[in-house]
Amino acid sequence: MYAKLAEDLADLPALLDAAREQAGELLAGLADRPVAVPPPTGFAPSAVPEDGVGAKAALAEFARRWAPGFAASAGPRYLGFVTGGATPAAVAGDWLTAAADQNPVSSLDSSASDLERETAAWLAQLFGLGPEFSGAFVSGATMSNLVGLAIGREWVGEQLGITVADAGVAALGPVAVVSGAPHSSVLKAMAVLGLGRSAVKRVALQPEREAADLADLEQQLADLGGRPAIVVANAGTVDTVDFDDLRAIAALKAKYPFWLHVDAAFGGFAALSPEHAALVDGLALADSVCVDLHKWLNVPYDSAIQFSRRLDLQVRVFQNAAAYLGHPGENPAFVHRTPESSRRLRALAAWCTLAAYGRSGHREIVERCVAHARDLGERLSATSQWRLLAPVRLNVVCFTLAENPTQDRIDAVVRAVAAGGETFVTPTVYAGVPALRAAFSNWRTAREDVDRVFAALVTGSGAA
Ligand SMILES: *Cc1c(COP(=O)(O)O)cnc(C)c1O
Repeated sequence: MYAKLAEDLADLPALLDAAREQAGELLAGLADRPVAVPPPTGFAPSAVPEDGVGAKAALAEFARRWAPGFAASAGPRYLGFVTGGATPAAVAGDWLTAAADQNPVSSLDSSASDLERETAAWLAQLFGLGPEFSGAFVSGATMSNLVGLAIGREWVGEQLGITVADAGVAALGPVAVVSGAPHSSVLKAMAVLGLGRSAVKRVALQPEREAADLADLEQQLADLGGRPAIVVANAGTVDTVDFDDLRAIAALKAKYPFWLHVDAAFGGFAALSPEHAALVDGLALADSVCVDLHKWLNVPYDSAIQFSRRLDLQVRVFQNAAAYLGHPGENPAFVHRTPESSRRLRALAAWCTLAAYGRSGHREIVERCVAHARDLGERLSATSQWRLLAPVRLNVVCFTLAENPTQDRIDAVVRAVAAGGETFVTPTVYAGVPALRAAFSNWRTAREDVDRVFAALVTGSGAA
């Protein structure tokens, strides 16, 4: 054995303690470190080390060279994109995932696949999805959307008597993907799946909303003349957290043939709060559902789940049948359900946080985030510097400069706020207006953080 490796093996418990200590310091500093650390330009990688220094020295070098440049994106005032943190139980679960190093491709050698099945079932219950849905872990909502659309594509083929997984997408011809305000990852999935980005048929939006206009949606379906299609409904758009009327859209299935995929990447968590659950009413009528877990469940990257009610079609697409891997059969192993074959046991971090805090703990996180978003929204709209571009429907505040919100001025504010280190927000363009988004999805965020965010934004407006 390589000498440094043998030394580390002999010293393993002490090394894990050293890593724990370093992680403890990272986490303890989250509230005080700069929230964003824009890196210097012109980075050039060094050469691969010929001789290793051993794990302890490697950790020390990481702490010196890299850790200071890391964003406090796991902390309470990072409001860019839709970024969750990681609950204590989720971090612990993630560490143990690495330590146990399971590969849940099959059920022949380990209970790991059953742990994934249980966690998927827990999550289905959280989101009100019945036992007709099966779930599998994937790396993120992009991959979850891709899997949902792949099953939808196979379903369209089934309606036309074509097995797309065998015959290829060319045998299918064009497939319309109908959606009001699809996330960019849906278009990426369409490109990957051979449907093509231009196959998207955009539905008109309701006035001042990102929700689909139902009459226009129905017209677009009618225009397809009975050709089966895919509808992507949105449960939580990134700019204004708007929701399509899922129940009304599902009702159209009685008249028109379509696969209903719902992108509920973070909006799905509305189901946890009785006050907001109506936003996702009808979710269980979908054919496939995407939910991100590294956002509002607050598990570490990377983790999401995809649900579908046609496991048979899913296996048709994703089967990885080989004598040595086993054949799909009754209760197909996860190797036959998603694009990945070997993968980490992502379910463990999610299992740990659900076991530790349950439905009510995660409901509290969701409701607190929503309360913070409302609070910030009210405070910003009471200033002379800022105005809201949409009502705060859930956990995102979409706002812009009250006067002359040009892209240059918004970009200047984003840079100034990031440089200030108190908070981090990301720019967008909503309804043609350059704007900012503040997304609350971290379990740590407290009222005092909202005070600091508000103050930083008021100061930051001066940079415009
Ligand atoms: C974040 C998000 C995605 C993509 O998620 P990743 O986890 O980054 O792959 C897709 N759809 C919606 C609505 C999202 O918010």
